[in-house]
Amino acid sequence: MKIRQISLLQDFKCLAGACPANCCKGWLIPIDEKTYQKYISQKGILGTALRLSIKKKNDIISFRSTPRGCPFWGMDKLCGLQKRYKTEYMPQVCIDFPRQLYNLDFFCEETLYLACPEVAGLFLNCVVKELPFSFNEASGEVSYEVNTTNDDSEYLDYLLNARKELILRLNSNWNFNSLAFIEYGTDAQNACIHKSKLPSPLDTKYDSLAAEPVSIDCNTYNKLFFNGFYHSALKSSSPLIYKLCCRYIQKFHALSRTNPQKADNSLKALLNSVCDKIPWFDRLLKRYYEYYIIFSFLDTFEDYSFARRLKCGIYQTYMLWLFIALYTEKKKSVSIEELSKLIALYERRAPQINDAMTKINQES
Ligand code: SF4
Repeated sequence: MKIRQISLLQDFKCLAGACPANCCKGWLIPIDEKTYQKYISQKGILGTALRLSIKKKNDIISFRSTPRGCPFWGMDKLCGLQKRYKTEYMPQVCIDFPRQLYNLDFFCEETLYLACPEVAGLFLNCVVKELPFSFNEASGEVSYEVNTTNDDSEYLDYLLNARKELILRLNSNWNFNSLAFIEYGTDAQNACIHKSKLPSPLDTKYDSLAAEPVSIDCNTYNKLFFNGFYHSALKSSSPLIYKLCCRYIQKFHALSRTNPQKADNSLKALLNSVCDKIPWFDRLLKRYYEYYIIFSFLDTFEDYSFARRLKCGIYQTYMLWLFIALYTEKKKSVSIEELSKLIALYERRAPQINDAMTKINQES
């Protein structure tokens, strides 16, 4: 099997007990069927402890959440299960994280979740030093299962090339929020439906939309916040994200209802203020969207949902912009370590933006 590994992987090393945002906190940790069966059949005190540590809700089995995160997370900030039994009783998701292991049958792609602060730090290093994200290729056996039901290799080749071309566009004259992304996505989706020729992002027909942004205002941010992203439970699961959500709600949400224009102006001023504190901030937003494309564009192999995926990434980038702006509001500058932690924590909630998209799409 050909395995394509993102270049960041070779430098990744888990921070373990020194991690500022341990992966056990801030989200649900699902337990796969194989591990669940092991927990169910395990005898003795260990079996009792394992069974007491899990819960089932809406058919999803996960670890119970304690105020400190996973019940097996120790005072030494290390996983108690891993320390005693290595990976024997760890759910697959804990073994794999922060690697995204994607088996497309024709090849495998291994990338890294930005939800890990060490990965976010490696990502920021590439942004600051203007290093490209590349893939190293190797051959070997993989233990993870095929993630797709599609066997159309020609279409997969098209996606690989289109992804490359989208990144070329992003590195030339398209900003992360360019309407051209949505136009291309809509064309590609229609071509799939009508089985016509798939478009190239390099087509000059998109040039006229390159400078047109997908705009955002308080009203849209409100929808992004209140359709899954914000939840009062964040107070204990992710205090920093909760604090920043509250700051947004107090400052902009109420005002947007009474005086939308004033709220939008004030929001714009806050967003623009980040560029003075982080001189390479424009580049950060572009590279974040680039990483998003690298990480999730191939999912269209399964669902053909080009426009929605590209738009979701734009909103995800806008939302990150807002969180960094809220975080730096009262600061003169921000360190790479602070940003890495913030990006990692934000990423643990960011998948919720996909749900909010349904609401935004219904109304547009
Ligand atoms: S979040 Fe990343 S660095 Fe931190 S403990 Fe998990 S894998 Fe290690």
